[in-house]
Amino acid sequence: MSVGDGGRDRAKWNQQRRWLTVLAALAVSLALYASGALSGLERSLTDARFRLLTRPPSGTVVIVEIDPKSLRSLDSWPWSRNRHAQLIDRLMAAGASLVAIDIDLSSRSSEDADAVLADALARARGRVVLPAFRQAQLGEDGRVDIVHTVPLPRFRRLVRIASVNASPSVDGLVRVHAAFHPWQTDEITSMPALLAEPARPLFTEFEIDYGIRPELLVRLSYVDVLRGEFDAGLIAGRKVIVGGTAVELGDQLSTPVHYALPGPIVQALAYESILQERTLKRAAPWLVSVISIIVCLLASGPLTRWSWRRGAILLCGIAVATGATSLALHAWTPMLFDVTPVIVAIVLQFVFALGLRIDRLDMALLLRTLRLRRSNAFMRNVVEHSSEGIITVTNNFVVGYANRAAGQIFGIDPSSLVGRRFETLLDVGNTKNVEALLANSVGHPRPADGRRPGGGTFPAELTSNEMDVGGELQYVVLLRDVSERRAQEELLEYLALHDTLTGLPNRALLMDRVEQAIARAERDGNRVALLLLDLDRFKQINDTLGHAVGDELLAEFGQALAGPLRRIDTVARLGGDEFAVLAPSLNGPEHARQIAERVAAALHRPFEIGELSLDVGVSIGVAIYPDHGTESSELMRSADVAMYMAKRERSTVALYDVEKDTNSVRNLSLGSDLRTAVRERELTIFYQPQVEVATGRPVAAEALIRWDHPRYGYVPPEEFIQLAEQTGVIRPLTRWILGEAVRQLAEWQHAGFDIGLSVNLSPRNLHEDDLSRVVSELFEMYSVRSDRLTIEITENAIMTDPARALDAIRDLKECGVRLAIDDFGTGYSSLAYLKSLPVDELKIDKSFVIPMIESGSDTVIVRSTVDLAHALGLTVVAEGVEDEAHLTILHRIGCDLAQGFHIAEPCDPETFARWMDENGRPELDPTAEQPAAGEAAHADGKEVRVLKRA
Ligand code: C2E
Ligand code: CA
Ligand code: CA
Repeated sequence: MSVGDGGRDRAKWNQQRRWLTVLAALAVSLALYASGALSGLERSLTDARFRLLTRPPSGTVVIVEIDPKSLRSLDSWPWSRNRHAQLIDRLMAAGASLVAIDIDLSSRSSEDADAVLADALARARGRVVLPAFRQAQLGEDGRVDIVHTVPLPRFRRLVRIASVNASPSVDGLVRVHAAFHPWQTDEITSMPALLAEPARPLFTEFEIDYGIRPELLVRLSYVDVLRGEFDAGLIAGRKVIVGGTAVELGDQLSTPVHYALPGPIVQALAYESILQERTLKRAAPWLVSVISIIVCLLASGPLTRWSWRRGAILLCGIAVATGATSLALHAWTPMLFDVTPVIVAIVLQFVFALGLRIDRLDMALLLRTLRLRRSNAFMRNVVEHSSEGIITVTNNFVVGYANRAAGQIFGIDPSSLVGRRFETLLDVGNTKNVEALLANSVGHPRPADGRRPGGGTFPAELTSNEMDVGGELQYVVLLRDVSERRAQEELLEYLALHDTLTGLPNRALLMDRVEQAIARAERDGNRVALLLLDLDRFKQINDTLGHAVGDELLAEFGQALAGPLRRIDTVARLGGDEFAVLAPSLNGPEHARQIAERVAAALHRPFEIGELSLDVGVSIGVAIYPDHGTESSELMRSADVAMYMAKRERSTVALYDVEKDTNSVRNLSLGSDLRTAVRERELTIFYQPQVEVATGRPVAAEALIRWDHPRYGYVPPEEFIQLAEQTGVIRPLTRWILGEAVRQLAEWQHAGFDIGLSVNLSPRNLHEDDLSRVVSELFEMYSVRSDRLTIEITENAIMTDPARALDAIRDLKECGVRLAIDDFGTGYSSLAYLKSLPVDELKIDKSFVIPMIESGSDTVIVRSTVDLAHALGLTVVAEGVEDEAHLTILHRIGCDLAQGFHIAEPCDPETFARWMDENGRPELDPTAEQPAAGEAAHADGKEVRVLKRA
């Protein structure tokens, strides 16, 4: 519902409420009015007005009263009618205009007295009025009869007759006077009306104005008048009422304002009312009703809208105004206006409006209470069913409340937590610590160990909130059992720091431990050894025997590695087939070497994987703190260098040697020396022959660079080639070698023998765009057949950037050179991939060839490589032939070419030429266009090498 709707609804409700109150108030008030229930109140109001609005009598009537004094003075009552006759005579004599005698003369007295009175009446000549009245009399049969009492006929003829009946209103007071009374079949004028003639009342039935003050009426004592002891001037021209005023006579009437008045006085007041036009009449009920309705309607708006205080003021205002109006009407008109219906209606309306308002407030209050209770219940539910433990703690650290989850976390009923000291639920020690924890955890989750009352602790996290509860500080503590999360985190941490395959620590963890070990060694003054291990031919095993076998081998290897180690040592897997051992707290370098050798010994055995028995060679590089590095990264690098040294030297274990480290000081100076060496021609090229396995005849050679350093002497090519690559010298170096090689080829051609020559290319050379151009130019320059030159690219060089390698290879192939994959088996290529390259030759790395004599599995690897290479149409060269046995095996396997120390070591050109002469050099046939040496022809799927001889 929109706000506008709400406003409209409220307005509608206000309107309805207004009509409701008006209708109800009017209905009740008018019903009361109609039923007469208000008349008592109304009469009281009228009486009040009488008291307020008094007026003197006109003075035109004199009352001759049969008062106590007269009764005392004259003999016993009833008096002789002679007296009355005498009184009439006196009054007439005094000039009274009319004499009304309110004395019962209906029954006979003595004949004499009656005659005397009749004479007096006759003398008054019609100026006397005698009373007639109706009386209720209990008849002999028990029935109530209305008796009409009139004076004796003999008097009646001489006087005028008027009714002196007075009938009380419902309240028993004589209020209303009727100017005419029913009389048998006719009616009869009342005595006051008769006296007042010719003035006539405005209404035949009216209310006597009791505001006319009866005490101001002229009253004469009967006895005084009888005796002539009165001021005749008071009588002259006036009307006289003669009647009993003494209480003993019983003619007392109950009246408003004055309580009891003698009958004659009441008649005088009625007379005065007529005379002064104060014959009062109540306003017609319909008029009163209409006025009530109008006033109510006018007041309804403010009464419903205004506050109850303003409403009450309005109410009083209306009451006063109504009262004043009625007072004014009373004062200036003969109208009696009933104000009670108006006032009652307004009061009721006010009361109803107030009631409704209170109702509405009550309802609103009730609704709010309900809503509060509901939201309370809701909040309670939320808190109770929260998955987080919620506990309130008083400022003296006592648990005030605990929800369900809190109970579950602590393993007891939540109600049993209440009343416990909070520090007993935590593993933080004393109250002071709890206080600090609570203060620190306001708004920030803090870890803490929870303590279960039933025993045991658990990792928890708590956040607290300070709350002011009735001026007292309380904590609302949100508590969470984080064991699961902690376990998860620990698992993640474990995974982050461990190798999944072997379960061994990974590189990150190892580095961390290395740092710790270094810190401890620094403090304790001892040494730390870091061993890096690399499985020599893992890649080949993985490729030929499958990953499952490879994985199992790695796991076995990891376990075997830990065997000879101490508890404090760490075995880690760094990835692939690389492992590391951290051995802290060593006495000296010898100690480190011992450990390395123990490890090597433990690994020097075949690993049984399923049916297979696998022999894996391992290279172990050892670096020692502080000798080979004082920081973890430095130590790691040294161990890495040492490992490559081991590989290069084919010794299982190598201790770091600064001389062999390309980044060592020596190597840095070598790097700069190399540039001049290329320029100054300090470098020479050695040639190593390659022979046909089947016949033993030399067919080709490999150009291998040699550097005789003025200071360091012989520097192994692997060492300075790496430096050349790092310094960029590799570019001029390679060009120089290529130039020398092609020149040498030309020389050999010139000397008349046909031989191929292989030149090694560094991976960096593959990035040179103009290499193929350089080669073509050389061929042109020396007019050498391009297919006599073979370019060797290592498998690793191809695999680091296969796309670029492919581009470079294609360019070179376009010059017509042959292409060989060097060190095949050490990289991560597959034969299937190499198939897509324009390769001509495959050189099986010596690390496969050399162990063939001892290990059958290596023979298997070499054999399958040879078979696959042949299937792809490639020539296979086996490197590292150090033994006759190698040649025998290679022959059996069907390998094409062999190169190695057993055949010939690399040597200078002169020595090479001599060797060639001794071993039958392949002569060049200057006439025939025969396939050249190194070219392969395929017949029946079997490769046949055709060598041209002289
Ligand atoms: P590589 O290309 O595998 O060269 C063969 C290496 O095996 C040579 O080592 C050679 O002396 C050695 N060798 C030959 N027969 C045997 C044997 O029966 N047993 C053993 N254990 N080794 C044998 P070298 O001359 O020390 O060359 C080492 C590496 O240096 C080469 O390995 C090649 O990668 C690189 N290299 C040599 N000369 C050049 C060059 O001119 N340019 C480039 N880019 N690299 C070169
Ligand atoms: Ca080579
Ligand atoms: Ca090689």
